Amino acid sequence: MTAFETPPDLGRSWWLREALAREEFAGPPTPPLDADVAADVVILGGGYTGMWTAWFLKQRDPGIDVVLLEQDICGGGPSGRNGGFCDGWWGGVGDLMATYGQAAAKDLLEACGASPDEIGAFCVEQGIDAWFRKGGDLAVASAPAHEGRWLGTVQKARELGVEDGYHVLTASEVRDRLRSPMFGGGMLIDEGANLHPARLARGLRRVLLERGVRIFEQTPVTRFGFDRPAIAETPGGSVRAGQAVIGLGAWATWWRAFKPSLTVRGSYMVMTAPAPEAIDAIGWRGGESVRDFRSSIHYLRTTPDGRIAFGLGGLQPDLARRIDHRYAYDEGMVRRVAADLYRMFPEFRGVPMEAGWGGPINVAGLNHPFFGTLGPGNVHYGLGYTGNGVGPSHLGGKILAALATGADDPLTRLAVVTCEPKRFPPEPIRSPGMLLANDMIRRKDDLEADGRMPDAATRFVAGLPRRLGFNLGPR
Ligand SMILES: Cc1cc2nc3c(=O)[nH]c(=O)nc-3n(C[C@H](O)[C@H](O)[C@H](O)COP(=O)(O)OP(=O)(O)OC[C@H]3O[C@@H](n4cnc5c(N)ncnc54)[C@H](O)[C@@H]3O)c2cc1C
Repeated sequence: MTAFETPPDLGRSWWLREALAREEFAGPPTPPLDADVAADVVILGGGYTGMWTAWFLKQRDPGIDVVLLEQDICGGGPSGRNGGFCDGWWGGVGDLMATYGQAAAKDLLEACGASPDEIGAFCVEQGIDAWFRKGGDLAVASAPAHEGRWLGTVQKARELGVEDGYHVLTASEVRDRLRSPMFGGGMLIDEGANLHPARLARGLRRVLLERGVRIFEQTPVTRFGFDRPAIAETPGGSVRAGQAVIGLGAWATWWRAFKPSLTVRGSYMVMTAPAPEAIDAIGWRGGESVRDFRSSIHYLRTTPDGRIAFGLGGLQPDLARRIDHRYAYDEGMVRRVAADLYRMFPEFRGVPMEAGWGGPINVAGLNHPFFGTLGPGNVHYGLGYTGNGVGPSHLGGKILAALATGADDPLTRLAVVTCEPKRFPPEPIRSPGMLLANDMIRRKDDLEADGRMPDAATRFVAGLPRRLGFNLGPR
């Protein structure tokens, strides 16, 4: 590997900076809350979950009075800095069936499977140029050990009768779509799209303001009362509301009610400079969302101006960077991600990285989000997307809007609402145990990438989460 410049820290993700530089996505300022107010529904968190919930509440009842509180700016969290993969749960069909049974799995696949197309249609209807492109979800072997890992998924899809959109690809068929010396065969799922995550988040914000949602940014909720009405206190004022919705992502792990069922990992990304000629050289023209079969996954996609956005999951920066869940820029992490990109695509050596950033992933034990209601029946939550929230948070918004309006809706009978989330072990086992398993999972991935067989101890520890009933880590 030749030397390269470390991807710089631009303070925010490349996506959010690009969006905020345009008036249509920056939008008018929404100052912090500075009074005590009342509302029908108060929403905590201005990510996709909070904003889709506000949208679907207004769809159900245009007159409903909704207040949304965001500690930073809307899209300042993972919703404005993710990879932009916009999928249903098709790639996880096997886990869904094993966890919830065939009928419930089919309901979940259908409900969540509708979201990517609906998000694309929403962007068109609302005039949001969020670069939505449906190029399919391409999962590839990036190490010999990955070969064939997709066969179980295709088999499960067949058992459920939904196999039509799944295609097994030989190494040469993968090469027809894009070339890397690391890639072998793979699987293409037709129902996959990608988009510009921050333009979607900021576009949603604009649409909500137009519908009369009262948004207060730079407004952290410092205290929350589980009562009727629920009370959200902030430094400058409070909101009393009959119903409350919690869409706080990783920050919800600070709440006693959610800590047992949530943990946090980091994911880091880099963005290359535009290099359409290098994209041409690797033959990547179809706009596919590409991921590999590492447990600490590589995910990569192109942009309309010929860049690659490239990420790596399952990373664990030092405690200082984890502590506030901001997962701020980490030089070592983004260098690692950039090195992986150059290794995967030697044609990009010499193409500079324009930015690197990170963000927290809120991980649920079953690898799917969970939704429900707390308190005296008026506090609703949607958490634990486990690195796949762009499409599913749209379904989440529908579910939470139904819960907050007390609607009798099939969505509130989906297994992600009715089943209890899996709990992580208590401390003092939890933190060291999870750190060790995470390290061994990444070590196994890295050894396999070098064509080496992981030793028995590494395999044993990396496989522990699965053996303990979590849908996390390698089988
Ligand atoms: C680097 C990275 C890459 C990813 N790539 C993908 C991908 O390609 N595809 C995919 O599907 N998913 C991806 N994800 C996951 C995806 O971004 C999330 O699942 C999704 O954004 C979750 O949205 P959310 O609204 O639930 O949470 P968030 O976006 O985390 O929103 C929660 C909000 O709550 C706010 N908040 C926290 N505490 C308070 C408080 N006390 N008061 C007020 N507000 C508060 C936060 O500031 C934040 O804005 C990625 C995540 C990361 C970090």
